[in-house]
Amino acid sequence: MEIPSDDRRIGRNSETVHCEVAPMLETEVLVVGSSLSGMMVTLNLKHRNPGLDVTVLGPLPTEEKRPLVGESLVEPGILFFREMGLGPHLDQMQVLKHGLTFYHKFDLSNPADRAYTVHAPEILYHKARQMRRQEFDTACRARAVALGARMLHGVADEIEINAGGAKHRVLATINGEKVEIRARWIVDATGRRRLIGKKVTKYIRPEKQRCTFWFRLQNFQPFLEHIEVHRRRQWKFDPWLTTHHFLGRGYWIWLIPLEIGKENLCSMGFTYRPDLFGRRILSMEDFLAQVDRDHPALAEMVRSGEVVDTQMYLDYFYRSERIYSEDGWFLVGDTARAVDPLYSNGISMTTVQVGQISEIIERQRAGTLKPGDVAALEAAGLWIMERAQREVTEQYEIMHDPFQACMRRYLNVTGWFNAFLPLWWNGFFTTPEGARLLMRLFRDRDEDAESLWVLAAEASAAIGPPYSQEGFDRGPDLDALINLRFDCAREDVMKAVTRMFARRRDMRRSLLAMNGNKNLRREIPRLISETIRPLLLRLLPRLRPAVFAAVRPPLPGQYVRWTGPERDVPEPEVPYVGRAVAEVYDRQ
Ligand SMILES: Cc1cc2nc3c(=O)[nH]c(=O)nc-3n(C[C@H](O)[C@H](O)[C@H](O)COP(=O)(O)OP(=O)(O)OC[C@H]3O[C@@H](n4cnc5c(N)ncnc54)[C@H](O)[C@@H]3O)c2cc1C
Repeated sequence: MEIPSDDRRIGRNSETVHCEVAPMLETEVLVVGSSLSGMMVTLNLKHRNPGLDVTVLGPLPTEEKRPLVGESLVEPGILFFREMGLGPHLDQMQVLKHGLTFYHKFDLSNPADRAYTVHAPEILYHKARQMRRQEFDTACRARAVALGARMLHGVADEIEINAGGAKHRVLATINGEKVEIRARWIVDATGRRRLIGKKVTKYIRPEKQRCTFWFRLQNFQPFLEHIEVHRRRQWKFDPWLTTHHFLGRGYWIWLIPLEIGKENLCSMGFTYRPDLFGRRILSMEDFLAQVDRDHPALAEMVRSGEVVDTQMYLDYFYRSERIYSEDGWFLVGDTARAVDPLYSNGISMTTVQVGQISEIIERQRAGTLKPGDVAALEAAGLWIMERAQREVTEQYEIMHDPFQACMRRYLNVTGWFNAFLPLWWNGFFTTPEGARLLMRLFRDRDEDAESLWVLAAEASAAIGPPYSQEGFDRGPDLDALINLRFDCAREDVMKAVTRMFARRRDMRRSLLAMNGNKNLRREIPRLISETIRPLLLRLLPRLRPAVFAAVRPPLPGQYVRWTGPERDVPEPEVPYVGRAVAEVYDRQ
């Protein structure tokens, strides 16, 4: 029987995969679920191991029944897709993104007030892309087929997970026929369905739950000219081409431009912690009623356009206790955890997982996997995903306070650019040797960061309410953080990590000064620790040379490009074509 690649079904020219679908099919790796996480695992495995037999089972992008979001990529995600060969699609077809912009409203209690303090550097160095998912998912599938993955158009009905190297068995319906598939390694990428996850692990439902209501809007008038923006500097980039964030009491709103030009399109969403927000947003009427009060310029923008569709998840937060096993099963993406998208880092966290899964399969295949390797990668994966979400969860408590919200973001961004990104870039999260070191270095709770939350609250009380730009100008200005280069060589990675402590120390000093240094004595031990820990970290490459020799970058092509002699040569500009816009977009 011939199984056409889904690309042919949708009328594109690409290869056709031939295979016999007898009652039984054998494959090395079976990926169940063909949405983003499933395709990311497949692309990475085939890109790194062209000879590996990888089969994907799932519906076509055009048949998906799950709600479409319209996501925004950040650094690891965009670099991952460039490594996989999807750079040309992203550059030509998906809207440019200049980082994340947060609009902190000075006076949330006043509906008539439209003044916001908005923070960004003059120019954004790290550019990413927004994603119209169906088109992007189709491009991912075409790329997976080009790399030699076998795409099966169907669903898994029953799954049997086996131990000790025995093959896993899946009973599937493929093109209307029952087929048994056997695989040495099996990846659960079935999203919230968690087909394998529910059999092999427990799921934790945190008390601090999350709800989200979102919609796509077309043919609207952007809000930018209808708010009063206070900023520290002029920007040399188009401020529309970013992911916009508005905050309120117990909630935040995203706005992602998905298409630009005459027939514009965007995704907007309202995410809240129900215990703090106190109500539920179940309809456009609920959304507009809240936004009329807090951010009327956004409500006007919505009313100026046409709503394409609406979606919601209520109390949707969960995370799994386990994600990988030496028995050869893996839970990836939404199967492993739900995401609060405040920092658009869900897909980037999946990038970490995808590197870990490839590493485990490759080592097991080569017979080099050591006892404890899977556990080390699993611990690092669970830790970073949980940590990223916990920082967001706690932020809801102060989202209505513009100064504290701004400081929390600085703190999170400091950790992201100075610690997470350089470590990920060099492979500390994706090689067992690196993961073991990380789990020794970083504690579960970050008390130093939490002590800065207290200082930010004290400083905020010193300048408001009511808040003003002058008050903000008395605080630290870390807007340039998001331009930090993280693409360092592995011998310099600890130098990059030490910058995090230096930035925290600067923040601590600046926040203390806002209160006349009243609490300086209380902060002295932390200031000392922020001075000493960097010195110790810098010694690590000499103390643990074997670890530094063992880590390998998860994206070797990007690593060579950005850490090699070409590192300061800018990428060539690729003209944006887009879905609906025929002419080259040129507003700058
Ligand atoms: C509101 C919201 C906004 C977000 N915004 C961002 C953002 O801006 N940036 C970001 O990085 N992340 C964002 N995320 C996170 C990101 O969207 C998700 O993590 C990601 O889409 C999950 O993809 P997935 O492939 O794991 O799951 P899904 O996309 O749900 O895919 C699951 C797949 O499994 C298939 N499937 C189910 N059952 C079977 C079966 N029996 N057999 C075969 N296949 C099956 C489904 O058909 C589907 O193809 C956001 C999440 C939410 C909820």
